[in-house]
Amino acid sequence: MNEKLYRFMQGRYGADQFSKFLVVVGIVIVLLSNFIGGIFLNIFGLAAFVYAYYRMFSRNHPKRYRENQKYLSYISRFKNFFRRQNGHMGQRKTHHIYSCPKCKQKIRIPRGKGRIEIACPKCHTKFIKRS
Ligand SMILES: [Zn+2]
Repeated sequence: MNEKLYRFMQGRYGADQFSKFLVVVGIVIVLLSNFIGGIFLNIFGLAAFVYAYYRMFSRNHPKRYRENQKYLSYISRFKNFFRRQNGHMGQRKTHHIYSCPKCKQKIRIPRGKGRIEIACPKCHTKFIKRS
């Protein structure tokens, strides 16, 4: 690396997951705006790029670190949401999921048992459903 560039990069925050995400989002939006032809979309995509580079060249490490942590926790929440949805989908074939009419507790009941009385494990309310 040449001397000037090295000195310029010294103490800079550099790329993290959030910056990489912003670059990808920027590329996608700019490409999309080329298809749809929206000038605002284009500006928005470029703004994502500018923000990504601003973060990489930033000297405020704690703040950038916090942003990245926030991004990572958001992403993991997002992934967990989809994992849980998939879990429910898998159970759909063999189980019904009812919620208690009183406390909204979710109760998983195997299919194909006909009319059955269900007792909520949480508040002990009894209700009748077809499984
Ligand atoms: Zn209940």
